[in-house]
Amino acid sequence: MSENTKTTGSCLCGDVTYEISGDPMIAAHCCCTDCQKSSGADHITLAFYSDDQVKMSGALAEFAVIADSGNTLTRCFCPKCGSRICGRNSAHEGRIGIHVGTMDNPQNIKPSVAVFTRGRREWDVLSGDLTTFEASPPVKG
Ligand SMILES: [Zn+2]
Ligand SMILES: [Zn+2]
Repeated sequence: MSENTKTTGSCLCGDVTYEISGDPMIAAHCCCTDCQKSSGADHITLAFYSDDQVKMSGALAEFAVIADSGNTLTRCFCPKCGSRICGRNSAHEGRIGIHVGTMDNPQNIKPSVAVFTRGRREWDVLSGDLTTFEASPPVKG
């Protein structure tokens, strides 16, 4: 774990690629309904970085929704193959959440939090030393 950590990733078709410098501030599982619907999986795993750590190449399409919190959540995906690559929350300018499933070398990513676990199906067992929240965490990092 260091400033020199380089993480790369791409969408399924390869039109969108990215390179990340350094470690994430936090990595989290999200079991909310919107993540389930938009990904088709029971939960997604996101690693959060500041924008200046992430170099994105290729065109992304966006889909934005207003969350219960009143914040705008923007989900970004490859318009060609549909892979979800990243997301942003209007409450956290300059921060980007990268979908860990799109990473080529996610070995350094250690999720420490699970949010919206009220939406988790019982067969979706999350392992590790996780701090869990039924809904959104009271204070977002
Ligand atoms: Zn693609
Ligand atoms: Zn979610």
